[in-house]
Amino acid sequence: MSDEKIPLAGVIGHPIAHSRSPRLHAYWLRKYGLRGHYVPLDIAPEKLGDLVPRLADIGFVGANVTIPHKEAVMDLADLITDRATLIGAANTLIFRKDGKIHADNTDGYGFIENIRQTIPDWTPKSGPALVLGAGGAARAVVASLVDIGVPQILLTNRTRARAERLREDFGARVQVIDWVQAGNAVEEADLVVNTTSLGMTGKPELRIPLDGLRPGTIVNDLVYAPLRTRLLTVAEEQGCRVVDGLGMLLHQAVPGFERWFGKRPVVDENLRAAVLR
Ligand code: NAP
Repeated sequence: MSDEKIPLAGVIGHPIAHSRSPRLHAYWLRKYGLRGHYVPLDIAPEKLGDLVPRLADIGFVGANVTIPHKEAVMDLADLITDRATLIGAANTLIFRKDGKIHADNTDGYGFIENIRQTIPDWTPKSGPALVLGAGGAARAVVASLVDIGVPQILLTNRTRARAERLREDFGARVQVIDWVQAGNAVEEADLVVNTTSLGMTGKPELRIPLDGLRPGTIVNDLVYAPLRTRLLTVAEEQGCRVVDGLGMLLHQAVPGFERWFGKRPVVDENLRAAVLR
């Protein structure tokens, strides 16, 4: 009998039953014929500090992290990447052989790769981006837009103070505008990104005026349930190039899978279909 360990990974959240990540990683493990398992891990906030450091003892090589633990896991990590530090949250953990926990944030990577794959001729440096929302996902989006060289980021949020904090963290290329002015800013932007939870199943619709959207503008919604949000439907009717939120979820999973299971996986239509099924 072989004593070779089968690598385990999972997604830590609370609740976690809704997560599509197990389906996504199971698809890649099967596709590449790799030994390994990826499981949902429902861990309550008061148990996080006790359980996460012990996962390596029972065979885990890493984990994704989702709501509500993305900030709290930073306190459990021995090493934190610069991008996770800048964002202030982690979504990917690596349990290293030396016992150290390494924390990274791949949401910004997933966001950029999703747009690049859908719109291969995207030129980020050509004009301003408008970001709606200033929560955790917005931090990853703004950090990656600054990093990739977008010249100006117009940022708007219902709670203006939260947007102001992002400007303090990410610098002068970020310009905060009032939530009620979002409809005007839509006209100026080459890229519009919804990072709010508005438009998600069970949440109110995103109701900012969209008649100023110019044909050719790239419009990306981070919401992926439903896949085709009202924002994307209206944008498409006005001749915009639309990018749904599912691709970001798929692409953000790539770096973790590669580190844990040793193969860089590909995001393609078959994967999308498997995750949506
Ligand atoms: P979060 O930190 O809770 O932020 C929520 C954002 O939505 C805030 O900007 C909040 O504004 C805004 N908002 C909520 N209700 C609103 C309302 N009634 N009117 C106006 N603004 C409202 O959440 P998050 O982690 O950033 O996630 C945001 C969305 O992105 C979720 O739908 C999530 O599923 C999605 N997401 C998708 C991916 C992906 O891979 N596609 C990855 C991460 C997140 P206030 O500050 O004023 O409350």
